[in-house]
Amino acid sequence: MVKNRKLAKAISDLGWREFRTLTEAKCEKYGRKFRVIDRWEPTSQKCSSCGFRAGKKELNVREWTCLNCGTFHDRDVNAAINIRMGC
Ligand SMILES: [Zn+2]
Repeated sequence: MVKNRKLAKAISDLGWREFRTLTEAKCEKYGRKFRVIDRWEPTSQKCSSCGFRAGKKELNVREWTCLNCGTFHDRDVNAAINIRMGC
């Protein structure tokens, strides 16, 4: 890890930019949709079935049930559905 925080951030940003560029190219090559969302979008907090916002959850909470519609969610699958739907 780089001790200089500004340099570490620049390296990190460059890494993510390259990852994004390569992923976008692969998606285009294989006819897949590529989506970019805001890093603070609460994709794992929002029910993909009814849109209810269930609030922040700790990272160790991997599954949850919507208090509004009762749908059982895997945290990552729910987030992926929200991203696919455009949040
Ligand atoms: Zn719901």
